[in-house]
Amino acid sequence: MPISVVIVGSGPSGFYVAEALIKSEADVAIDIVDRLPTPYGLIRGGVAPDHQSTKRVTRAYERTALNEKVRYYGNVELGRDVSLDELRAAYDAVVLTIGMPGDSKLGVPGEDKKGVIGSAAFVGWYNGHPDFKDLDPCLETGNVVVIGNGNVAIDVARVLVKTPAEMTEADLPRHVSDAIQASPVTDVYMVGRRGPVEAKFTNVELREMGQLENAAAIVDPGDLPEEVTGDWSDRDKRLRERNLASLKEFSTAPRDGKAKSVHFTFYAKPVEIVGPDRVTGARLEKTRVVNGRAEGTGAFVDIECGLVVPAIGYTLDPPQDVPFDQSTGTIRNDNGRVEDGVYVAGWAKRGPSGVIGTNKPDGQNAAAQILEDVKNGSKPGRTQFETLLKSRNIEWVDFAAWQRIDAAEVANAPPGAPREKFVTTADMLKLLGSAS
Ligand code: NAP
Repeated sequence: MPISVVIVGSGPSGFYVAEALIKSEADVAIDIVDRLPTPYGLIRGGVAPDHQSTKRVTRAYERTALNEKVRYYGNVELGRDVSLDELRAAYDAVVLTIGMPGDSKLGVPGEDKKGVIGSAAFVGWYNGHPDFKDLDPCLETGNVVVIGNGNVAIDVARVLVKTPAEMTEADLPRHVSDAIQASPVTDVYMVGRRGPVEAKFTNVELREMGQLENAAAIVDPGDLPEEVTGDWSDRDKRLRERNLASLKEFSTAPRDGKAKSVHFTFYAKPVEIVGPDRVTGARLEKTRVVNGRAEGTGAFVDIECGLVVPAIGYTLDPPQDVPFDQSTGTIRNDNGRVEDGVYVAGWAKRGPSGVIGTNKPDGQNAAAQILEDVKNGSKPGRTQFETLLKSRNIEWVDFAAWQRIDAAEVANAPPGAPREKFVTTADMLKLLGSAS
């Protein structure tokens, strides 16, 4: 009997576990489960819609999904449709690759006001994630404040100020591109609580901000040190030097008549979101960096705005019965081992950092542990799982069905765009002729 493995979550970390198991040439049967009908997790729902070349990594995942050892079960949710105990009873190994879908909180007064939308929700909305279809962000504003100096903050800022021509090849859903293009947003303030050297942007993403058609990257030269000092690894120091060089270029570049601006606002931490019940501004305290930490200076500045997007990291609200470590915000694990027969990989294991490729060694680690712990398959896996789903009238979406969704999205694409996404599960199931 093959070793039966179920991977919960079909983002990059899930696919890298499957890929590593296949490459091991062990006798395995691998089922990949996702709560959405569509696979690929953050590649579909997180990677920016104008970065299509990054999304091409799904071609490798597709090869994995089409491998004879693998089955895909979309539209099946751990905790809603099936419990962890039921998966453990059916499979020799359960791998949790469920990511970090929630938004971290700022922890300042006013952050529950209308018009404060975390990056998980905002990015989900512009990427057509069904959870956020009706988000209706407050784009009737000239100014937007994006909090955070990471790549997600850059993605959000860029998507808000790119021209329609620059977005031609993006896969923004139509209602989203209409909303963004109709909005009067001209100024995006990207707020970092520390300085330019501490910012977490990668350099390719930062440089792109200097090349936008109709948006200038505004940097106060007074915020920029002569050179990078501090205790960095060689690699980190090189990255920070490249970022500093890019920011210096921005600080002296001519505006060239660009109508919109992205203001790099360093040394400022949010202390309050201002407004009656709806956001009218963000109050920031100016900071200085002491021993790598942002310290308030007691000087405050208000930025008027109708939308605040905290892009400060992600959280996980774990499904019932999944062991959770409150102190790290991750699934409790010992280098990937959770409990007998249960493993974790990706952001749910390490926390919300790292690029797509960072998940590859994680996947290899989980696969190696499974093969070390389970010498012979003894549980039936998919036959028991399918029986359970059928007994509950749960209609799963298999990979061939996803490919039909994919083909329909591609066929509906506006000129130049790769696809027009379905943004509700109901529309996807309707296409498939499902009874639901
Ligand atoms: P990130 O890189 O960790 O950046 C988070 C930012 O939020 C940091 O600037 C952090 O400041 C700030 N922050 C955290 N808590 C804050 C608070 N309470 N108040 C103010 N600022 C706060 O996270 P991310 O941007 O969400 O990205 C997640 C991962 O995905 C990263 O590894 C990123 O590189 C990756 N990603 C990559 C790409 C790409 O390659 N194109 C695109 C998107 C995401 P401190 O530094 O002071 O903590």
